[in-house]
Amino acid sequence: MGSGLSPDKRTVGRQFPPRMTRKTLRAFFYAQLLTVAACSNQGLEPVRRESTVMGTFVSVTIFDEHVRREFAQAMIDSVFEEMKRIESIATDYADSSDIGQVNAHAGIETVSVSKEIARLVEESILYSETSLGAFDITVGPLVHSWDFLSDSPRVLSRAELNGLLPLVNYRNIVWENDKVFLKKKGMRLDLGAIAKGYAVDRAIALLKRRGLTNVIVDLGGNLGVSWDGTRLLDSTRATIFIRHPRRDGEMFGHFEVGTSGVSTSGDYQRYFTSGGVRYHHILDPHTGEPARDVVSVTIVAGDATKADALSTTVFVLGREKGMSLIEDLKDVEGMIIHEQGDTLGYMLSSGLKGRFVWGEPRD
Ligand code: ADP
Ligand code: MG
Repeated sequence: MGSGLSPDKRTVGRQFPPRMTRKTLRAFFYAQLLTVAACSNQGLEPVRRESTVMGTFVSVTIFDEHVRREFAQAMIDSVFEEMKRIESIATDYADSSDIGQVNAHAGIETVSVSKEIARLVEESILYSETSLGAFDITVGPLVHSWDFLSDSPRVLSRAELNGLLPLVNYRNIVWENDKVFLKKKGMRLDLGAIAKGYAVDRAIALLKRRGLTNVIVDLGGNLGVSWDGTRLLDSTRATIFIRHPRRDGEMFGHFEVGTSGVSTSGDYQRYFTSGGVRYHHILDPHTGEPARDVVSVTIVAGDATKADALSTTVFVLGREKGMSLIEDLKDVEGMIIHEQGDTLGYMLSSGLKGRFVWGEPRD
């Protein structure tokens, strides 16, 4: 079994207590360690709850100050319900889900799916086209065979990979209105690189509809930030901490964002090592092997679906092509962390330069 919606190795949150020096309402978010803390000049604590959904850790934090706590709690219940609903249609684990049905009928017949799954498949194909196949939701057979979550994962041989690669190609998805057909038997869709971002966007939309405007939703490192009607990097209110990819519990740095989607894809989330080599869950669809050029990618975009899809895409594309894609896209910024000798180096897109602060926070 292997799926983007299966449990992460790290599903346990860790409390990071930043010391507060500014007397404004301020949100601190520690990407990947999935922690939000906040303080306010009126002494009001934000309403925050954590749970597990889509095989990973989720937290919802509502910072709006004059909202009744019972109302905020009820809203958080609705968010968790909504995420479970999305999981039930997007997972490739269950044959009963929309995606499960498409996979079960691969090479046989067309399947009718819900409008939102059809839209997610369509959007995924767009990312495949933009990235010349670096992003490809037909990686299902590879993810399934690598099985990064198994108790005894093993390295697939070149021959095994070559046997699977003909099943991996987004061009063999036939999509029309709300119907999806996979041309070859054995093909499998896997929405693991985009569905969590989508669930976060749905959560933010739900909270906004009910009048909540200062909210952070984190689903396994995919963040939706809604902050006082600001957008992307125009505001400096919510602080995003980037976890150090190689030192547990340490931070690589931080930057501040306004209303946006922020997603990190890293080689440390699901992996095993064999012969001193790290095998992780972000695969290059052209080789069938884990993508090798970078260690982690963080994307800031207009929404979380986009940030989720692009963090995986840029990870697979690697430093040069990945950064050039980020720069080509309007309203998208990003950071790429890569190995540099014994240490780690990083690259920032033009919009993040001068905004990213490296290292552990001072205050
Ligand atoms: P995470 O799930 O840890 O947040 P990502 O968003 O990068 O990380 O998604 C990785 C998941 O996406 C994998 O577990 C797998 O299910 C799927 N996947 C792996 N490689 C690709 C790829 N090249 N294109 C699309 N999906 C992928
Ligand atoms: Mg992703």
